[in-house]
Amino acid sequence: MPDVLAVQPGFSPLSHTLNSPARIFRRFFAISFHYFLTSSLPLFHAKLLLMLSSSSLSRFRKNLLAWFSQFQRDLPWRRDKDPYRVWLSEIMLQQTRVAAAIPYYLRFLERFPTVQSLAEAPPQEVLRLWAGLGYYSRARNLQKAAQEIVARHHGIFPQTEEQALALPGIGVYTAAAILSIAYEKKLAVLDGNVARVLARLDAVTGDLRSNGRWPKLQQTASTLLDPCCPGDWNQALMELGATLCTPRSPQCRLCPVAESCEARKLGLAGSIPEKRKKRDTVEIVLASLVFIDPKGRTLLLPPPKSPQKSTSRADVATLLSRMWHFPTIEVHQNAELELRQHTHKLFPALANLHFVPAPKARHAVTFHSITILPFRIYIPKLPRLASARSLPLADLSSLPISNLTRKVALSASVPSSM
Ligand code: SF4
Repeated sequence: MPDVLAVQPGFSPLSHTLNSPARIFRRFFAISFHYFLTSSLPLFHAKLLLMLSSSSLSRFRKNLLAWFSQFQRDLPWRRDKDPYRVWLSEIMLQQTRVAAAIPYYLRFLERFPTVQSLAEAPPQEVLRLWAGLGYYSRARNLQKAAQEIVARHHGIFPQTEEQALALPGIGVYTAAAILSIAYEKKLAVLDGNVARVLARLDAVTGDLRSNGRWPKLQQTASTLLDPCCPGDWNQALMELGATLCTPRSPQCRLCPVAESCEARKLGLAGSIPEKRKKRDTVEIVLASLVFIDPKGRTLLLPPPKSPQKSTSRADVATLLSRMWHFPTIEVHQNAELELRQHTHKLFPALANLHFVPAPKARHAVTFHSITILPFRIYIPKLPRLASARSLPLADLSSLPISNLTRKVALSASVPSSM
Protein backbone atom coordinates (compact mmCIF):
# COMPACT_ATOMS: atom_id res chain seq x y z
CA MET A 1 0.00 0.00 0.00
CA PRO A 2 1.51 3.38 -0.91
CA ASP A 3 2.56 5.96 1.62
CA VAL A 4 -0.38 8.17 0.76
CA LEU A 5 -2.50 6.54 3.44
CA ALA A 6 0.00 7.68 6.01
CA VAL A 7 -1.15 11.27 5.43
CA GLN A 8 -4.84 10.49 5.84
CA PRO A 9 -5.67 10.77 9.51
CA GLY A 10 -8.99 9.28 10.45
CA PHE A 11 -9.17 6.92 7.48
CA SER A 12 -8.91 3.25 8.24
CA PRO A 13 -9.42 0.66 5.53
CA LEU A 14 -10.86 -1.62 8.23
CA SER A 15 -13.73 0.77 8.86
CA HIS A 16 -15.44 -0.65 5.76
CA THR A 17 -15.74 -4.04 7.33
CA LEU A 18 -17.39 -3.15 10.64
CA ASN A 19 -21.06 -3.84 10.21
CA SER A 20 -22.66 -3.50 13.63
CA PRO A 21 -26.47 -2.89 13.60
CA ALA A 22 -25.89 0.69 14.82
CA ARG A 23 -23.41 1.30 12.05
CA ILE A 24 -25.75 -0.17 9.43
CA PHE A 25 -28.57 2.05 10.70
CA ARG A 26 -26.36 5.15 10.68
CA ARG A 27 -25.26 4.40 7.14
CA PHE A 28 -28.84 3.73 5.97
CA PHE A 29 -29.93 7.03 7.53
CA ALA A 30 -27.02 8.94 5.95
CA ILE A 31 -27.71 7.53 2.50
CA SER A 32 -31.46 8.16 2.74
CA PHE A 33 -30.88 11.71 3.92
CA HIS A 34 -28.37 12.25 1.12
CA TYR A 35 -30.81 10.98 -1.50
CA PHE A 36 -33.55 13.17 -0.02
CA LEU A 37 -31.30 16.21 -0.32
CA THR A 38 -29.92 15.58 -3.78
CA SER A 39 -33.14 14.37 -5.37
CA SER A 40 -35.24 17.20 -3.99
CA LEU A 41 -32.87 19.94 -5.09
CA PRO A 42 -32.51 20.82 -8.76
CA LEU A 43 -28.88 21.78 -8.17
CA PHE A 44 -26.66 20.00 -5.71
CA HIS A 45 -24.91 21.96 -3.02
CA ALA A 46 -21.16 21.77 -3.12
CA LYS A 47 -20.78 20.07 0.28
CA LEU A 48 -17.18 19.34 -0.54
CA LEU A 49 -16.39 23.03 -0.80
CA LEU A 50 -18.21 23.80 2.43
CA MET A 51 -16.39 20.99 4.14
CA LEU A 52 -12.96 22.01 2.96
CA SER A 53 -11.85 24.85 5.19
CA SER A 54 -8.79 26.67 3.92
CA SER A 55 -6.44 24.43 5.90
CA SER A 56 -8.09 21.19 4.77
CA LEU A 57 -8.23 22.50 1.18
CA SER A 58 -4.52 23.04 1.28
CA ARG A 59 -3.99 19.51 2.66
CA PHE A 60 -6.34 18.12 0.01
CA ARG A 61 -4.26 19.78 -2.72
CA LYS A 62 -0.98 18.74 -1.13
CA ASN A 63 -2.05 15.09 -0.87
CA LEU A 64 -3.25 14.90 -4.46
CA LEU A 65 -0.20 16.65 -5.89
CA ALA A 66 2.18 14.48 -3.82
CA TRP A 67 0.43 11.36 -5.08
CA PHE A 68 0.60 12.61 -8.68
CA SER A 69 4.26 13.44 -8.38
CA GLN A 70 5.00 9.92 -7.07
CA PHE A 71 2.61 7.74 -9.05
CA GLN A 72 1.90 9.47 -12.38
CA ARG A 73 2.34 7.30 -15.43
CA ASP A 74 5.35 7.97 -17.62
CA LEU A 75 3.65 9.17 -20.81
CA PRO A 76 5.51 10.57 -23.82
CA TRP A 77 3.63 13.88 -23.81
CA ARG A 78 4.53 14.47 -20.18
CA ARG A 79 8.24 14.65 -20.91
CA ASP A 80 8.09 18.35 -21.73
CA LYS A 81 5.49 21.09 -21.85
CA ASP A 82 5.90 22.07 -25.47
CA PRO A 83 2.48 23.54 -26.42
CA TYR A 84 2.39 21.71 -29.78
CA ARG A 85 2.99 18.35 -28.12
CA VAL A 86 0.50 19.04 -25.35
CA TRP A 87 -2.09 20.11 -27.93
CA LEU A 88 -1.48 17.05 -30.11
CA SER A 89 -1.80 14.69 -27.13
CA GLU A 90 -5.01 16.32 -25.93
CA ILE A 91 -6.61 15.97 -29.37
CA MET A 92 -5.47 12.37 -29.77
CA LEU A 93 -6.73 11.44 -26.31
CA GLN A 94 -10.27 12.58 -27.06
CA GLN A 95 -12.33 9.38 -27.38
CA THR A 96 -9.13 7.31 -27.41
CA ARG A 97 -7.40 5.24 -24.74
CA VAL A 98 -3.89 6.24 -23.68
CA ALA A 99 -2.34 2.94 -24.79
CA ALA A 100 -3.92 3.23 -28.25
CA ALA A 101 -2.86 6.86 -28.68
CA ILE A 102 0.85 6.46 -27.80
CA PRO A 103 2.11 4.83 -31.04
CA TYR A 104 0.08 7.28 -33.14
CA TYR A 105 1.42 10.20 -31.13
CA LEU A 106 5.04 9.11 -31.62
CA ARG A 107 4.61 8.42 -35.34
CA PHE A 108 2.79 11.68 -35.91
CA LEU A 109 5.48 13.73 -34.15
CA GLU A 110 8.22 12.00 -36.07
CA ARG A 111 6.59 12.94 -39.37
CA PHE A 112 5.31 16.38 -38.23
CA PRO A 113 7.72 17.62 -35.56
CA THR A 114 6.49 21.23 -35.67
CA VAL A 115 3.27 23.16 -36.16
CA GLN A 116 4.77 24.48 -39.40
CA SER A 117 5.38 20.99 -40.80
CA LEU A 118 1.83 19.94 -39.93
CA ALA A 119 0.37 23.07 -41.51
CA GLU A 120 2.24 22.47 -44.77
CA ALA A 121 1.63 18.71 -45.08
CA PRO A 122 -0.67 17.24 -47.74
CA PRO A 123 -4.03 16.64 -45.99
CA GLN A 124 -4.05 13.03 -47.21
CA GLU A 125 -0.74 12.43 -45.47
CA VAL A 126 -2.14 13.78 -42.18
CA LEU A 127 -5.15 11.48 -42.51
CA ARG A 128 -2.95 8.53 -43.43
CA LEU A 129 -1.00 8.88 -40.18
CA TRP A 130 -4.27 9.23 -38.27
CA ALA A 131 -5.87 6.22 -39.95
CA GLY A 132 -7.06 3.73 -37.33
CA LEU A 133 -7.50 6.27 -34.52
CA GLY A 134 -11.03 7.14 -35.67
CA TYR A 135 -12.94 10.42 -35.36
CA TYR A 136 -11.08 11.81 -38.34
CA SER A 137 -12.52 15.31 -38.00
CA ARG A 138 -9.95 15.62 -35.21
CA ALA A 139 -7.10 15.26 -37.72
CA ARG A 140 -8.72 17.59 -40.22
CA ASN A 141 -9.30 20.25 -37.55
CA LEU A 142 -5.80 19.76 -36.18
CA GLN A 143 -4.31 20.66 -39.53
CA LYS A 144 -6.67 23.59 -40.08
CA ALA A 145 -5.77 24.90 -36.62
CA ALA A 146 -2.04 24.46 -37.40
CA GLN A 147 -2.51 26.56 -40.53
CA GLU A 148 -4.25 29.28 -38.50
CA ILE A 149 -1.55 29.19 -35.85
CA VAL A 150 1.11 29.67 -38.52
CA ALA A 151 -0.87 32.44 -40.24
CA ARG A 152 -1.94 34.35 -37.12
CA HIS A 153 0.21 33.36 -34.18
CA HIS A 154 3.73 33.01 -35.64
CA GLY A 155 3.52 29.22 -35.44
CA ILE A 156 3.05 29.14 -31.64
CA PHE A 157 -0.11 27.89 -29.92
CA PRO A 158 -1.86 31.05 -28.59
CA GLN A 159 -1.80 31.81 -24.88
CA THR A 160 -5.29 33.22 -24.27
CA GLU A 161 -8.45 31.19 -23.86
CA GLU A 162 -10.28 33.36 -26.37
CA GLN A 163 -7.66 32.80 -29.08
CA ALA A 164 -7.47 29.08 -28.31
CA LEU A 165 -11.25 28.67 -28.52
CA ALA A 166 -11.25 30.37 -31.92
CA LEU A 167 -9.17 27.51 -33.38
CA PRO A 168 -10.90 24.57 -35.13
CA GLY A 169 -11.34 21.54 -32.89
CA ILE A 170 -10.65 23.37 -29.61
CA GLY A 171 -13.44 23.37 -27.03
CA VAL A 172 -13.57 24.61 -23.46
CA TYR A 173 -12.04 21.45 -21.98
CA THR A 174 -9.21 21.22 -24.55
CA ALA A 175 -8.36 24.92 -24.25
CA ALA A 176 -8.16 24.64 -20.44
CA ALA A 177 -6.02 21.51 -20.62
CA ILE A 178 -3.52 22.90 -23.15
CA LEU A 179 -3.23 26.37 -21.62
CA SER A 180 -2.87 25.11 -18.05
CA ILE A 181 -0.32 22.40 -18.88
CA ALA A 182 1.74 24.35 -21.43
CA TYR A 183 1.48 27.87 -19.99
CA GLU A 184 0.26 27.36 -16.37
CA LYS A 185 -2.91 29.35 -17.04
CA LYS A 186 -5.39 29.13 -14.16
CA LEU A 187 -8.10 27.22 -16.02
CA ALA A 188 -9.71 24.16 -14.48
CA VAL A 189 -10.45 21.20 -16.74
CA LEU A 190 -13.67 19.24 -16.58
CA ASP A 191 -13.87 16.08 -18.65
CA GLY A 192 -15.56 12.76 -17.90
CA ASN A 193 -12.75 11.56 -15.61
CA VAL A 194 -12.59 14.78 -13.59
CA ALA A 195 -16.38 15.03 -13.37
CA ARG A 196 -16.56 11.50 -11.98
CA VAL A 197 -13.94 12.27 -9.31
CA LEU A 198 -15.63 15.53 -8.30
CA ALA A 199 -19.08 13.96 -8.27
CA ARG A 200 -17.83 11.20 -5.98
CA LEU A 201 -15.98 13.59 -3.70
CA ASP A 202 -19.23 15.49 -3.30
CA ALA A 203 -21.56 12.45 -3.56
CA VAL A 204 -23.49 14.02 -6.42
CA THR A 205 -26.19 11.63 -7.58
CA GLY A 206 -28.15 11.74 -10.85
CA ASP A 207 -27.05 12.33 -14.44
CA LEU A 208 -24.05 14.66 -14.28
CA ARG A 209 -24.97 16.28 -17.57
CA SER A 210 -28.50 17.25 -16.60
CA ASN A 211 -30.22 19.62 -14.17
CA GLY A 212 -27.34 22.10 -14.22
CA ARG A 213 -24.93 19.69 -12.55
CA TRP A 214 -22.16 20.14 -15.14
CA PRO A 215 -21.78 23.94 -14.63
CA LYS A 216 -21.78 23.30 -10.87
CA LEU A 217 -19.03 20.73 -11.28
CA GLN A 218 -17.11 23.26 -13.37
CA GLN A 219 -17.42 25.73 -10.49
CA THR A 220 -16.18 23.10 -8.06
CA ALA A 221 -13.25 22.30 -10.36
CA SER A 222 -12.35 26.00 -10.58
CA THR A 223 -12.49 26.45 -6.81
CA LEU A 224 -10.34 23.39 -6.14
CA LEU A 225 -7.74 24.34 -8.81
CA ASP A 226 -4.38 24.89 -7.20
CA PRO A 227 -3.29 28.35 -8.42
CA CYS A 228 0.35 27.49 -7.78
CA CYS A 229 0.49 24.73 -10.41
CA PRO A 230 -2.67 24.56 -12.53
CA GLY A 231 -1.07 22.23 -15.09
CA ASP A 232 -0.03 19.60 -12.57
CA TRP A 233 -3.27 20.03 -10.65
CA ASN A 234 -5.43 19.37 -13.70
CA GLN A 235 -3.31 16.40 -14.70
CA ALA A 236 -3.44 15.03 -11.15
CA LEU A 237 -7.25 15.07 -11.10
CA MET A 238 -7.38 13.47 -14.57
CA GLU A 239 -4.82 10.87 -13.50
CA LEU A 240 -6.82 10.03 -10.37
CA GLY A 241 -9.92 9.50 -12.51
CA ALA A 242 -8.00 7.40 -15.04
CA THR A 243 -6.15 5.16 -12.59
CA LEU A 244 -7.85 4.89 -9.16
CA CYS A 245 -11.22 6.60 -9.30
CA THR A 246 -12.23 4.54 -12.32
CA PRO A 247 -15.83 4.09 -13.49
CA ARG A 248 -15.98 0.56 -12.09
CA SER A 249 -14.38 -0.58 -8.84
CA PRO A 250 -12.75 2.64 -7.63
CA GLN A 251 -9.71 1.85 -5.50
CA CYS A 252 -10.57 4.02 -2.52
CA ARG A 253 -8.02 2.28 -0.28
CA LEU A 254 -5.22 3.76 -2.38
CA CYS A 255 -6.82 7.14 -2.97
CA PRO A 256 -4.87 10.18 -1.79
CA VAL A 257 -8.04 12.20 -1.11
CA ALA A 258 -10.17 9.44 0.42
CA GLU A 259 -10.56 11.35 3.67
CA SER A 260 -12.46 14.10 1.83
CA CYS A 261 -14.67 11.79 -0.19
CA GLU A 262 -18.39 11.82 0.58
CA ALA A 263 -19.21 8.94 -1.76
CA ARG A 264 -16.70 6.70 -0.01
CA LYS A 265 -18.12 7.61 3.38
CA LEU A 266 -21.67 6.85 2.21
CA GLY A 267 -20.69 3.68 0.39
CA LEU A 268 -21.81 5.20 -2.91
CA ALA A 269 -18.49 5.28 -4.77
CA GLY A 270 -19.45 2.43 -7.12
CA SER A 271 -22.84 3.89 -8.02
CA ILE A 272 -21.74 7.45 -8.82
CA PRO A 273 -22.05 8.78 -11.44
CA GLU A 274 -25.40 7.46 -12.56
CA LYS A 275 -25.15 5.66 -15.91
CA ARG A 276 -26.34 7.79 -18.81
CA LYS A 277 -29.17 6.42 -20.87
CA LYS A 278 -27.68 5.11 -24.08
CA ARG A 279 -29.09 6.26 -27.38
CA ASP A 280 -30.89 3.43 -29.19
CA THR A 281 -28.63 1.58 -31.60
CA VAL A 282 -29.40 2.04 -35.29
CA GLU A 283 -28.74 -1.05 -37.42
CA ILE A 284 -27.28 -0.30 -40.86
CA VAL A 285 -26.46 -2.72 -43.67
CA LEU A 286 -23.87 -1.69 -46.26
CA ALA A 287 -22.63 -3.49 -49.36
CA SER A 288 -19.16 -2.89 -50.76
CA LEU A 289 -17.65 -3.71 -54.11
CA VAL A 290 -14.12 -5.12 -54.14
CA PHE A 291 -12.47 -5.56 -57.53
CA ILE A 292 -9.55 -7.95 -57.60
CA ASP A 293 -7.25 -8.27 -60.62
CA PRO A 294 -4.86 -11.20 -61.27
CA LYS A 295 -2.06 -9.32 -59.43
CA GLY A 296 -4.23 -8.97 -56.31
CA ARG A 297 -4.79 -5.27 -56.91
CA THR A 298 -8.04 -3.51 -56.09
CA LEU A 299 -9.69 -0.14 -56.70
CA LEU A 300 -10.44 2.54 -54.10
CA LEU A 301 -12.48 5.70 -54.59
CA PRO A 302 -11.27 9.06 -53.24
CA PRO A 303 -12.72 10.64 -50.09
CA PRO A 304 -16.23 11.91 -50.81
CA LYS A 305 -16.33 15.71 -50.75
CA SER A 306 -19.82 16.26 -49.44
CA PRO A 307 -22.51 14.07 -47.87
CA GLN A 308 -24.20 11.82 -50.39
CA LYS A 309 -27.78 12.90 -50.87
CA SER A 310 -30.06 10.12 -49.79
CA THR A 311 -33.17 9.24 -47.91
CA SER A 312 -31.19 6.68 -45.93
CA ARG A 313 -30.97 6.44 -42.18
CA ALA A 314 -27.23 6.95 -42.37
CA ASP A 315 -24.86 9.11 -44.34
CA VAL A 316 -22.60 6.55 -46.00
CA ALA A 317 -19.82 9.11 -46.55
CA THR A 318 -19.70 9.79 -42.81
CA LEU A 319 -19.66 6.07 -41.99
CA LEU A 320 -16.67 5.79 -44.33
CA SER A 321 -15.05 8.64 -42.37
CA ARG A 322 -14.76 10.59 -45.65
CA MET A 323 -11.62 8.66 -46.54
CA TRP A 324 -10.52 6.41 -49.42
CA HIS A 325 -13.03 3.60 -49.73
CA PHE A 326 -14.48 0.76 -51.77
CA PRO A 327 -17.63 1.63 -53.74
CA THR A 328 -20.24 1.28 -51.00
CA ILE A 329 -24.00 1.67 -50.69
CA GLU A 330 -26.55 1.32 -47.96
CA VAL A 331 -28.68 -1.78 -48.54
CA HIS A 332 -32.44 -1.43 -48.34
CA GLN A 333 -33.62 -4.86 -49.48
CA ASN A 334 -31.40 -6.84 -51.83
CA ALA A 335 -27.67 -6.25 -51.36
CA GLU A 336 -26.45 -7.82 -54.59
CA LEU A 337 -29.12 -6.28 -56.81
CA GLU A 338 -28.67 -2.80 -55.36
CA LEU A 339 -24.88 -3.05 -55.56
CA ARG A 340 -25.17 -4.18 -59.21
CA GLN A 341 -27.25 -1.10 -60.01
CA HIS A 342 -24.70 1.14 -58.27
CA THR A 343 -21.83 -0.57 -60.11
CA HIS A 344 -23.54 -0.04 -63.43
CA LYS A 345 -23.83 3.69 -62.69
CA LEU A 346 -20.14 3.93 -61.79
CA PHE A 347 -18.83 1.69 -64.59
CA PRO A 348 -21.42 1.59 -67.41
CA ALA A 349 -18.97 -0.18 -69.74
CA LEU A 350 -18.71 -3.25 -67.50
CA ALA A 351 -21.13 -6.06 -68.18
CA ASN A 352 -21.78 -9.62 -66.99
CA LEU A 353 -19.98 -9.17 -63.72
CA HIS A 354 -19.92 -12.13 -61.39
CA PHE A 355 -20.48 -10.99 -57.77
CA VAL A 356 -18.82 -13.31 -55.25
CA PRO A 357 -19.98 -12.73 -51.68
CA ALA A 358 -17.21 -12.49 -49.08
CA PRO A 359 -17.72 -13.06 -45.32
CA LYS A 360 -19.69 -10.22 -43.78
CA ALA A 361 -17.94 -7.77 -41.50
CA ARG A 362 -19.21 -5.92 -38.46
CA HIS A 363 -18.38 -2.38 -37.42
CA ALA A 364 -19.70 0.17 -34.94
CA VAL A 365 -19.58 3.94 -35.21
CA THR A 366 -21.14 5.89 -32.33
CA PHE A 367 -24.73 4.55 -32.15
CA HIS A 368 -24.61 2.83 -35.56
CA SER A 369 -24.19 -0.91 -35.61
CA ILE A 370 -23.07 -1.72 -39.14
CA THR A 371 -23.09 -4.98 -41.06
CA ILE A 372 -21.03 -4.82 -44.24
CA LEU A 373 -21.57 -7.29 -47.06
CA PRO A 374 -18.50 -7.24 -49.31
CA PHE A 375 -18.79 -8.61 -52.85
CA ARG A 376 -15.68 -9.53 -54.80
CA ILE A 377 -15.42 -9.17 -58.54
CA TYR A 378 -12.47 -11.00 -60.07
CA ILE A 379 -11.58 -9.04 -63.19
CA PRO A 380 -8.73 -9.32 -65.71
CA LYS A 381 -8.14 -5.55 -65.73
CA LEU A 382 -9.27 -2.98 -63.17
CA PRO A 383 -11.71 -0.44 -64.64
CA ARG A 384 -10.59 3.16 -64.94
CA LEU A 385 -12.32 5.92 -63.04
CA ALA A 386 -11.14 9.53 -62.64
CA SER A 387 -9.24 9.97 -59.35
CA ALA A 388 -9.72 6.33 -58.27
CA ARG A 389 -6.53 4.50 -57.27
CA SER A 390 -5.45 0.92 -57.79
CA LEU A 391 -3.31 -0.71 -55.10
CA PRO A 392 -2.67 -4.16 -53.58
CA LEU A 393 -5.70 -5.43 -51.64
CA ALA A 394 -3.34 -6.92 -49.07
CA ASP A 395 -1.76 -3.53 -48.31
CA LEU A 396 -3.90 -0.42 -48.51
CA SER A 397 -1.67 1.50 -46.11
CA SER A 398 -0.40 3.97 -48.71
CA LEU A 399 -3.78 5.72 -48.58
CA PRO A 400 -5.79 7.00 -45.60
CA ILE A 401 -8.62 4.53 -45.04
CA SER A 402 -11.07 4.05 -42.19
CA ASN A 403 -11.32 0.98 -39.99
CA LEU A 404 -14.51 0.07 -41.81
CA THR A 405 -12.68 -0.05 -45.16
CA ARG A 406 -9.87 -2.04 -43.53
CA LYS A 407 -12.41 -4.63 -42.37
CA VAL A 408 -13.93 -4.86 -45.86
CA ALA A 409 -10.44 -5.50 -47.31
CA LEU A 410 -9.80 -8.17 -44.69
CA SER A 411 -13.08 -9.96 -45.45
CA ALA A 412 -12.48 -9.75 -49.18
CA SER A 413 -9.02 -11.26 -48.70
CA VAL A 414 -10.45 -14.44 -47.21
CA PRO A 415 -9.89 -17.13 -49.89
CA SER A 416 -12.99 -17.71 -51.92
CA SER A 417 -14.36 -21.15 -52.76
CA MET A 418 -14.87 -20.30 -56.46
FE1 SF4 B 1 -12.75 8.12 -5.97
FE2 SF4 B 1 -12.72 6.42 -3.91
FE3 SF4 B 1 -10.98 8.44 -4.03
FE4 SF4 B 1 -13.54 8.90 -3.55
S1 SF4 B 1 -12.13 7.76 -2.26
S2 SF4 B 1 -12.25 10.04 -4.95
S3 SF4 B 1 -14.52 7.35 -4.84
S4 SF4 B 1 -11.11 6.68 -5.46
